[in-house]
Amino acid sequence: MDDVIVIGAGPIGAAAAHHASRRGMQVRVIGPNEAPRATHQVWSSHYDQGRLAHRSARNVELARWAWESMSRYRDIEQRSGIDFYHPCGTLSLSASLEHFSYTRIRPDLEVALGFRYTDYPIGSMTTQFPMLAPDLPYAGVYDGPPSGIINPRRMVAAHLVLAVQHGAQLERDIVTAVVPTASEVTVHTAAGQTYRAHRAIIAAGAYNGLSGLLPSPIAHTIKSETVTLAEVSAAQAQALRDMPSMMIDCQSDIISDAYLTPPVKYPDSKWYLKLGSNSVYDAFFETPAALRQWISAGDASATHAAQIGLIQSLFRGIDWLSFQSVPCVITRTPSGVPQIQKVHEQVATMVGCNGSLAKSSDAIGRVLVDTLLA
Ligand SMILES: Cc1cc2nc3c(=O)[nH]c(=O)nc-3n(C[C@H](O)[C@H](O)[C@H](O)COP(=O)(O)OP(=O)(O)OC[C@H]3O[C@@H](n4cnc5c(N)ncnc54)[C@H](O)[C@@H]3O)c2cc1C
Repeated sequence: MDDVIVIGAGPIGAAAAHHASRRGMQVRVIGPNEAPRATHQVWSSHYDQGRLAHRSARNVELARWAWESMSRYRDIEQRSGIDFYHPCGTLSLSASLEHFSYTRIRPDLEVALGFRYTDYPIGSMTTQFPMLAPDLPYAGVYDGPPSGIINPRRMVAAHLVLAVQHGAQLERDIVTAVVPTASEVTVHTAAGQTYRAHRAIIAAGAYNGLSGLLPSPIAHTIKSETVTLAEVSAAQAQALRDMPSMMIDCQSDIISDAYLTPPVKYPDSKWYLKLGSNSVYDAFFETPAALRQWISAGDASATHAAQIGLIQSLFRGIDWLSFQSVPCVITRTPSGVPQIQKVHEQVATMVGCNGSLAKSSDAIGRVLVDTLLA
């Protein structure tokens, strides 16, 4: 019998498996390899090459978890031999920074955590950031390194390598049922395996709820997220390599709360900036079939047009080679912050990535293990 079974080998599950195994527990982590969109069984919120890693957040605790995670990135890279972190800073843009969700609690973060930012009044950013259009209607707040970007696929791989080094068993399988009793947890899988453990962590992202894995429910919704990949040449990508990741309080009837990564190389060997946002056309999913349809064939053309318009308005002097729309998924809680809790005496979970937890997954994995053992 294992000490802990971790269900889901994404950012949160991989980090939890790493932390638990490092503490000497016998860990089994179960999650499938990434499959193509057209044939996938379960999708993931992290199947991408770039995620913003910034210290802005909706509350001080979330900012602290982001910071805690960033402070360990280099160590994880070195111990695993897998690099995933580029500390290029993050620039937040808004006409009203004191109301923008990403910058609203900045004064609290300065007092509680000692963060320091650089301010840019409207019209003053192009000296420092010459790639930006000079007529942007936004003021800026720059949060320098350690903020930047991470590659979430590579970060997950790094945590799994380290978990296995500490004795964890990695099963490339899909969990179909979690059955906790008073003294143990039994887990059944699609490949017909049955595993038993003293405890379990459920970290299956959108499928925590969609697949009915949670022994008791936690309120959340499962929302479409649309991103646009904006292709640039390798030479252009090199020229933009040290531009900051960005969060944009855009003025649009269609999209809001946009975020953008600097150029990143994708598996097709091309370089893309990626812009994502909320949209008035966002959809909500209540069955795995509805989510599968969106991921494999979702049409987000109206959101895509608005995202292209925003990308083009932000920059000057860039020769865009192509734009493509990509359907993604996130989970949301009513409070907008993740719920980390026990859903049974032997089972802990995290629900509600709220579109922003890849960067903090190391700390959340630690908190999940602490919660499980409490
Ligand atoms: C477009 C987009 C942009 C984002 N931008 C950012 C950003 O800039 N910065 C940031 O920090 N965060 C960002 N996020 C959020 C971030 O990606 C998520 O917070 C993170 O992926 C959540 O990790 P997770 O492990 O909870 O879930 P997931 O990443 O979804 O991983 C869950 C894993 O569980 C597995 N699984 C599912 N069902 C089962 C099952 N039944 N059995 C076994 N395994 C199962 C899946 O295969 C998957 O690998 C973004 C998300 C999206 C979609």
